[in-house]
Amino acid sequence: MTDRLDCAVVGAGVIGLAIARALALAGHEVIVLEAADAIGTGTSSRNSEVLHAGMYYPEGSLKARLCVEGHALLRRYLAERRVDHTLLGKLIVATDTAEEAQLDAILARGRANGVEQLFRLAAAEVHRLEPAVRCTAALHSPLTGILDTHGYMLALQGDIEANGGLVALKSPVVGGEVTGQGIRLSVGGVEPSEILCDRVVNAGGLGAQALGAALAGLPGETVPPLYLCKGNYFLLSGRVPFARLIYPTPQGAGLGVHFTLDLAGQGRFGPDVEWIEQAHYEVDARRGDGFYAAIRRYWPEIGDGSLRPGFAGIRTKLGPQGQAADDFLIQGPADHGVAGLVNLYGMESPGLTASLAIGAHVAELLQ
Ligand SMILES: Cc1cc2nc3c(=O)[nH]c(=O)nc-3n(C[C@H](O)[C@H](O)[C@H](O)COP(=O)(O)OP(=O)(O)OC[C@H]3O[C@@H](n4cnc5c(N)ncnc54)[C@H](O)[C@@H]3O)c2cc1C
Repeated sequence: MTDRLDCAVVGAGVIGLAIARALALAGHEVIVLEAADAIGTGTSSRNSEVLHAGMYYPEGSLKARLCVEGHALLRRYLAERRVDHTLLGKLIVATDTAEEAQLDAILARGRANGVEQLFRLAAAEVHRLEPAVRCTAALHSPLTGILDTHGYMLALQGDIEANGGLVALKSPVVGGEVTGQGIRLSVGGVEPSEILCDRVVNAGGLGAQALGAALAGLPGETVPPLYLCKGNYFLLSGRVPFARLIYPTPQGAGLGVHFTLDLAGQGRFGPDVEWIEQAHYEVDARRGDGFYAAIRRYWPEIGDGSLRPGFAGIRTKLGPQGQAADDFLIQGPADHGVAGLVNLYGMESPGLTASLAIGAHVAELLQ
């Protein structure tokens, strides 16, 4: 038997949950279909948990707009819902004149993107704030912070359920078809079923391309390629040397091996950049050498043996190694021609920060 439904969101990561919340608040009947046996077990629990201010992304990009909007929305939401977070601020540090030029470019982008409170500091001013940091100059973003991502996702789930929605776990979407009556999804799991939906959102993270390819009737050329760029983290033993988040200037496909900490005070460095063919999350202890070298550029005193392998996350990239960073790719009916369908690809950083703004954007695409 086929059930009929208004909206199905595939994927209960932070982005799928934020979209489902926005749709539920707009009065839609929503079900979130999640393959795993819990919410947020994918990239949403394998990241730096930083509330980004939005200065890295090109002016006019979706990343710039949704990060800046999302930062403001998320700060308000976390405060209202009493989800643990703190704005400890962040320094982006330059260690030579070439990196200082990068700082100037980031500052200009931040201003163009409407980032609040972004300041350029001389080395002596940085030294007063963070005596352990060695640099020639820095940018200070006092409104950058960290949050309890899982607490945030639980709050989103609570809003979905309070507005009549449902999160269905162990419900992998294994295929689908665009029909004249709506989009039919085939759900696997213990009790396989078919659901005919007026609206479907593909927020499958690393699985978004596979799901797009499994939707009969969606033009195949609209599904982008998927490249996997792993980011490994190492944990710091002993005392945390900084009061703020410390970032180098961006390096390659990532933001550079930076210092963050979780809300329990555990310091960590990462993510580095490791292009992989198959998804896996093991952290190879031998990568530690590269971490010490990267960190000593801005924290020369880090002691040998003070890092241990932590965890890893995988950036979902739309282009191969060496290609310039992509924007978020959010395709609505006007892009692929299928009424009622939105596909989200390449939802890497700052997807956590931008999530509430992404939710509003997708709900608008489906009106
Ligand atoms: C190393 C790293 C560091 C990052 N740091 C930050 C940061 O500090 N700040 C920030 O703002 N952003 C950061 N990000 C980005 C942020 O983590 C992601 O943008 C966000 O978590 C993506 O959420 P998602 O819901 O799209 O994906 P996911 O959390 O991966 O969720 C997708 C879900 O879809 C499910 N799924 C997939 N296919 C199917 C299917 N067919 N049927 C049913 N379910 C399916 C999966 O099981 C999964 O639960 C970072 C990302 C990485 C990789």
